[in-house]
Amino acid sequence: MTILLVEDDPVLRDGLAELFSGNGYRVIPAASVREARERLTDEVRMIVLDVGLPDGDGVSLCREWRAAGESRPILFLTARGEEFDVVRGLDSGGNDYVVKPFRMQELLSRVRVLLRDRQAPQQVQRSGFSVDRERMQVLKDGEALPLTLTEYKILTLLMDRPSVVSRDRLLEILWDNGGKYIDDNTLTVHISRLREKVGAEHIRTIRGVGYQWSDTSSAPSSF
Ligand code: CA
Repeated sequence: MTILLVEDDPVLRDGLAELFSGNGYRVIPAASVREARERLTDEVRMIVLDVGLPDGDGVSLCREWRAAGESRPILFLTARGEEFDVVRGLDSGGNDYVVKPFRMQELLSRVRVLLRDRQAPQQVQRSGFSVDRERMQVLKDGEALPLTLTEYKILTLLMDRPSVVSRDRLLEILWDNGGKYIDDNTLTVHISRLREKVGAEHIRTIRGVGYQWSDTSSAPSSF
């Protein structure tokens, strides 16, 4: 698993390179937009991309790559106070972001999620629901559901697995738009909104553990 790591701060770059190498990833470092363009080779599985670079910005580079058909996951590194708009960032085709200073373990878990999502089946079809990962949408009988980003993440996590997803697992990988992790109560709120959108029967609560997708749908009404 090779990561293209684009970061101009040498101390942070070295620290991250060490973290990734220590966790079994191969790292190709780059310190500028120019180097990032040159070093994005076929072996790269995902891109960790600093937003503020000496010769340009990561969001524009991401947009440029996506326009050229680049589909590998991109995670932004952004500094607090830096001009970074989450919506613009994700709209440019970025998959995720962390705000500096971040915990190394937090970054690592985000990287793992993105790499694992890549290996998840691209076309999940479950009782009339399907996932369009390119557009980050869930469709019900071909119609896109009006989901927030967090709801999309929860729903696809549940739909991808036949097993129960624990609350701890959900809390570990979800965050709100301010870059903070969401808490237990917020998760409960997200789940209840999601149930209203997809039908309560599809999201089972496993008491004391978490949630599980269920294909069971209510019987169609008959005349
Ligand atoms: Ca920077």
